[in-house]
Amino acid sequence: MNKFYITTPIYYVNASPHIGHAYTSIICDCLARYKRAAGDQVYYLTGTDEHGEKVASAAAGAGQEIQAFVDNVKGNFDDLWQKLNITYDFFIRTTQSDHKEVVKKVITALGEKGDIYKTKYQGFYCMPCESFWTPTQVKEACGVCSLCKREVGPIEEENYFFRLSKYSQWLKKYLEDNPSFIQPKIRYNEVMGFLDNNVLADLCISRPKSRVSWGIEFPLDSDYVVYVWFDALLNYISAVGYDVDRDKFNQWWPPDIQLIGKDILRHHAIFWPIMLKALGVSLPKVIFAHGWWKVDEEKMSKSKGNIVNPYTLIEDVGVDALRYFLLREIAPGADGNFSHQAVINRLNSDLANDLGNLVYRTLNMAEKYFEGKVSSKDGVIPFEFKNAFDVLGKGYAGCMEKLDFGGALDFVFDCIKVMNKYIEDTKPWGLWKEKKIDELGEFLYALLEGIRIVAGYLYSFMPQTCHSVFRQLGVDKEVVNFSEWKWSRKKVYSVKKEKPLFPRIEIE
Ligand SMILES: [Zn+2]
Repeated sequence: MNKFYITTPIYYVNASPHIGHAYTSIICDCLARYKRAAGDQVYYLTGTDEHGEKVASAAAGAGQEIQAFVDNVKGNFDDLWQKLNITYDFFIRTTQSDHKEVVKKVITALGEKGDIYKTKYQGFYCMPCESFWTPTQVKEACGVCSLCKREVGPIEEENYFFRLSKYSQWLKKYLEDNPSFIQPKIRYNEVMGFLDNNVLADLCISRPKSRVSWGIEFPLDSDYVVYVWFDALLNYISAVGYDVDRDKFNQWWPPDIQLIGKDILRHHAIFWPIMLKALGVSLPKVIFAHGWWKVDEEKMSKSKGNIVNPYTLIEDVGVDALRYFLLREIAPGADGNFSHQAVINRLNSDLANDLGNLVYRTLNMAEKYFEGKVSSKDGVIPFEFKNAFDVLGKGYAGCMEKLDFGGALDFVFDCIKVMNKYIEDTKPWGLWKEKKIDELGEFLYALLEGIRIVAGYLYSFMPQTCHSVFRQLGVDKEVVNFSEWKWSRKKVYSVKKEKPLFPRIEIE
């Protein structure tokens, strides 16, 4: 049995979840469900990043104790994942004690190795990013933070630094030798370009308690806390028992894929591999950076007030239409433009017209002509279905392995279109009038069988909808196994139609 360890970034709890968080978790959920269906053992990790200056000031802004504030926001994430049917296996919080212990052990070990040193730092600081910048870097970025483009302030303080520079040649070589480590290609090129044009500066991994107190105490010096990113990245090893539970760690490590947003590429493609290398831990197989959802071609941000609220969307179109839209509309590496109209267009065309209509009218005929009981003598796949269904399994899996969700769905919807055309071409109402009952039975059996198979393939995308289809077909127990999604020759269907899966949404 293969293992599949997949992670989302841990989400920062300075504000409630928005559509960007939902997007990352839905991508991971779709992959996790697909891998489970294929028979793999899956560990899907998500969680919350709960330390740092920004969290402390958000709590102060809300007039709450920090821990209470953090618990509350963490609860909002939990709540959204439940609504979106996200099937994570473990939720890690960086305020939990076993994680803190791992962070301390790592810093102690790197200190003993000589990879951490203390020095006075003079330069600039971006508070929102909690990042230091040298005068040269600030000059190059025209006087602002090169990550977030906000104003930076001068700073002078003593801190602990991690020797990133020592590993810069190693990292370049590693990336050259492993071109699929960072995906998609555009992000790989971005990191390589950065390494070609910059000398890696050592990373400041402490913050003086006099300035930031909400963090893990720095094990080498109790006047400091650990830099929030250094703390956060280590969740991926602490969650699988690093240095505590060797069997568990060996079972899951390394991650098969780590999903991130492209805004945190540098942390995951530069800091993270170097931290692991310094620790002597093997690297994740793939870091995949997805694009951003923009609204009217602008990045979503609190200051612009254009953040898309996932709860409103779930209310308006339902969970599965939202999941489907996010996975179908753009390739995960690209940026997408979000609009309500685009979601509704997808729902009306693909889900209501194609899928919903197929299921509804097929079950309607099964009840009308056969009181819901449909069987076949030979169960042979109709000639008209062959092309689309023959390539479905391989085509779908090939796309899913590459995170080409649109491509995988194209294979499924080709089958749906073939079935809809089959109904129009066969004209079953004519068979009924001519009393060709056997022929009509074979015709309906083929459609039910086809619907059962496509629902299997759609399950990773729209679990709730597919459960409903399986329930209506009377085959609810066979949902989650790839090997069941094949043409069979012995099924007898006893179906019970429910209301349409996706009522069309009309906009005035
Ligand atoms: Zn910044």
